[in-house]
Amino acid sequence: MPELARPRAQESRHGLRVTAGSSVTVFDRTGRFLWLSDGKTVIRRGLDNRFVRVDAHPSAHPVDRQYRRLTETEAQSTVEAAYENARRALANELEPTRSRWQERLASWTWDRLAEDGPRFRAVYRPVSILPPDAYRTVVVQIAEGCSYNRCLFCDFYRDRPFHIKNQEELDRHLREIRAFFGERLMDRTGVFLGDGNALVIPTRRILSGIEQIRSHLGDWVEASGEWSTFMDTFHSDTKDVEELAAVRRAGLSTVYIGLESGDDELRAFLDKPGKAAEAIRVIERCKEAGMRVGVILLVGAGGHRFADQHLEHTAETLAALPLTEGDVVYLSPFVDPPHPAYRERLLAAGSASMTRDELKAELNRWMRTLSFVKPAKVTFYNIQEHLY
Ligand code: SF4
Repeated sequence: MPELARPRAQESRHGLRVTAGSSVTVFDRTGRFLWLSDGKTVIRRGLDNRFVRVDAHPSAHPVDRQYRRLTETEAQSTVEAAYENARRALANELEPTRSRWQERLASWTWDRLAEDGPRFRAVYRPVSILPPDAYRTVVVQIAEGCSYNRCLFCDFYRDRPFHIKNQEELDRHLREIRAFFGERLMDRTGVFLGDGNALVIPTRRILSGIEQIRSHLGDWVEASGEWSTFMDTFHSDTKDVEELAAVRRAGLSTVYIGLESGDDELRAFLDKPGKAAEAIRVIERCKEAGMRVGVILLVGAGGHRFADQHLEHTAETLAALPLTEGDVVYLSPFVDPPHPAYRERLLAAGSASMTRDELKAELNRWMRTLSFVKPAKVTFYNIQEHLY
């Protein structure tokens, strides 16, 4: 019989890492389970005690990765086994690490972890989507929802009206965030201004909001952390370079822009307002203001009928952008929305959704075609892996 790998527990600045053979389990500094991986499967816990399981080797093509939310029973048994393994691993470690972490982990029963769900929901409206680089930021919902909220493919904020928090509401939100995260704020990688298009907020209010965030969270959030937000390219058209530069100087260094496509016909098909030419002007201004940009593209949107013109005009749009090192182009495999309106429109346009294999081939074609954006990077972005 092969000898079982001896589990090891290593303390880090951010928490505890338990390894046994190819499996790794990570707990945060308070002892909460964060994630585990056995090399083929990854299970991650969200701040609200929801769990997502990703079945695939980390290097697998994003279309081949299977994502699934765990049921409560599955999550509980996963977590309890993880804590048991950690206890065994700690038995091999030296004092004072052993006692410190045994005590810390012992305080986390399943019921106590589950309390994070209602606690989280008392602080936040659902954090429906984030760019992949922002999963570990502290989200501040300076605004709720999206001021447009009508793109055909986007259901992220249909559950709430657009609302910009006033000073008092933001103060309360920030006090709640500080209480919810506690010392875990030190492990967040930056600040993300939510929700869907916070840069639509008048510049003076964004600047005063950033000051409020600094005064509440400034001691905790890493000084080097990145501040970022989503931005649309239609309402934000009203912000000039000076305003964007003021926001940049205040600390907001990165904007993620849902360009979706450089093809105007497809943008109209998707009910995405504005033309690609306007988006180019907005992105140029962001770059002139010194911001890093992430440009998000929906590969497969509109199905076969739009495939060639979608890629051709998006490549032209990207070629017109002054992208530099640090900028990222995200290729997001299109996920058909669950409502019938999209399917009906596809049908009316004589189109059809791509199969999984077709979408995979299409993503590869985009990756090859858009490699000219160097030194900016092109990468995949699967919205199904989002879990805050
Ligand atoms: S602008 Fe963005 S957040 Fe708003 S509906 Fe469209 S895709 Fe969704």
